[in-house]
Amino acid sequence: MGADGRQAVGRGAGGGTVSERRSPQVPGWIARSVQSQTSAARPSTPRVPGVPKALGAPRVAASPVGVGLDSSTVRARMVQRIAAAGVANPQVLQAMATVERHRFVDSALVNQAYEDNSLPIGLGQTISKPSVVARMVELLLDSEAAKAGLRRVLEIGTGCGYQVAVLAMVAKEVYSIERLRGLHEKARGNLRPLRLPNVHLILGDGMAGFAGGAPYAGIISAAGGDNVPQAWCDQLAVGGRLVAPVVVAAGKQALLVIDKSSHGFKQTVLEAVNFVPLKSGIA
Ligand code: SAH
Repeated sequence: MGADGRQAVGRGAGGGTVSERRSPQVPGWIARSVQSQTSAARPSTPRVPGVPKALGAPRVAASPVGVGLDSSTVRARMVQRIAAAGVANPQVLQAMATVERHRFVDSALVNQAYEDNSLPIGLGQTISKPSVVARMVELLLDSEAAKAGLRRVLEIGTGCGYQVAVLAMVAKEVYSIERLRGLHEKARGNLRPLRLPNVHLILGDGMAGFAGGAPYAGIISAAGGDNVPQAWCDQLAVGGRLVAPVVVAAGKQALLVIDKSSHGFKQTVLEAVNFVPLKSGIA
């Protein structure tokens, strides 16, 4: 992630209507590779930062090497910084305080896990900056469709699986698609111990979205393209919201929000961001 300085909300250029088109057929290999984490139990609830652990209560998480005795303290500090930067949604802050980001980064980087940085996760990709994850998830929760609770969400770019775990705490079902097999497998490994029954990992090209879970109340992309693929707009539910980085000028990306209503699409361009590129095909 780059500087990601928050800018005033502006109406995007060409806030017009995107024409409707039928969703492309999903190849069988995508559908077959859906990995649903079906274990029954959700992760045990870590204690809320600042609330003392009851005497004798079982330890929730092993201490990460280099993060001190109890990672909830450093995570609470991270959440304070995120809140100070303007994220106010309590569901988002709770999710950020709960998901152990250090579990998603390489052991050599564990002591940087709660700094507001993107970090390498292999294959030239990065785990997103926590403040940007929180910002984007908050935007998703602010849609018309999410008023009665966020139902199905599609994430493009699973990476190491961190944002999936955050989304799993605020949405009913989360589908996440990754084009790099190595990272798809890494995310599966990272998420397995969390036993999130509402998470579905897919190996495939997210340029085509994932029709198997559509329509989505929310679509969130962790990779930035020159524009938003038509399939994403097609797979968005009426009242749903798409949040994605898009290239706005050479070497410059901004966060784009697209709201779908029965009248069409409304686009809003927000602050500058710096995501890895959206690429096609699987590798
Ligand atoms: N969500 C991650 C961020 C991963 S970085 C997190 O929690 O931190 C973005 C990811 O998008 C990379 O892993 C990259 O391989 C993936 N990506 C890029 N283009 C894609 C595409 N067309 N379909 C699926 N994944 C894609």
